[in-house]
Amino acid sequence: MTERSLQDLAPALRTTEGAGVQIRRGFPTSRMEDLDPFLLFDHLGPLTYGPGEALGFPDHPHRGFETISYLLEGSLQHRDSFGHAGLLEAGDVQWMTAGSGLVHSEMPGPEIMKNGGRLQGFQIWVNLPKRDKMIAPRYQEYKAASIPQAVSADGLVRARVVAGEALGVKGAVETHTPVLYLHFTLQPGASVTQPVAASHNAMAYVISGEATVAGRPAKEGSIAVFQHDGDAIRLENTSNAPTDILILAGEPLREVVARYGPFVMNTREDLVQAFEDFRSGKMGTLA
Ligand code: MN
Repeated sequence: MTERSLQDLAPALRTTEGAGVQIRRGFPTSRMEDLDPFLLFDHLGPLTYGPGEALGFPDHPHRGFETISYLLEGSLQHRDSFGHAGLLEAGDVQWMTAGSGLVHSEMPGPEIMKNGGRLQGFQIWVNLPKRDKMIAPRYQEYKAASIPQAVSADGLVRARVVAGEALGVKGAVETHTPVLYLHFTLQPGASVTQPVAASHNAMAYVISGEATVAGRPAKEGSIAVFQHDGDAIRLENTSNAPTDILILAGEPLREVVARYGPFVMNTREDLVQAFEDFRSGKMGTLA
């Protein structure tokens, strides 16, 4: 395997989303529009809310892509316009195919809303190919304990395999195009070489601690984008504390993106239609 080098390494942008939730945004930013097929990368928190302070993401529509929620701390209560609802807790993954569209709400769990508490997680959007944009909405939900885990032979590297494959373990989620979504924990002195096809776009995000990504030091909150000059990515931990790293990679769709807020289609006409379908209630409504 040939190790890929870095194209870019930068801190994610601190901003707010939803009702004012503090996030770090990998993209879209002025520096980086997207990472085909990924459309958005948000790291929520980590936040510590006091009683009555917690903020979330009230009613909003989606059409034309998938949203992946991965919670590290706290809980998120979600519900949609077709009656689907549930509570996401620490370590859980929800892979939601918005497809033809729905109206969605994600708020901190009742306990956090009332008494406050910690909240941390990720929301990532992955685009759907043109042929799948109008498929029926679907959820793939995994409790923390049911997400496949891999451990390296020396025991120093652990991977939660959300999608794709790492250290010989396959993820559980079904994706529409090849996507890799991994959460690595590297103990001090650990290293791992993860195969990623040279044609796939790939990035690493340092959740906590300090990692060495493709030979370069990367601090907490950094987003590293790889070049296409090899078929593997190299992660190391040369610090004296554990580090957590999120890896995303995928085969680019190479399709035209027409994007407006929560709608991601292929043409301006499709966008106008999405907006009309939302306004006329065709994506349903949340009471
Ligand atoms: Mn949503």
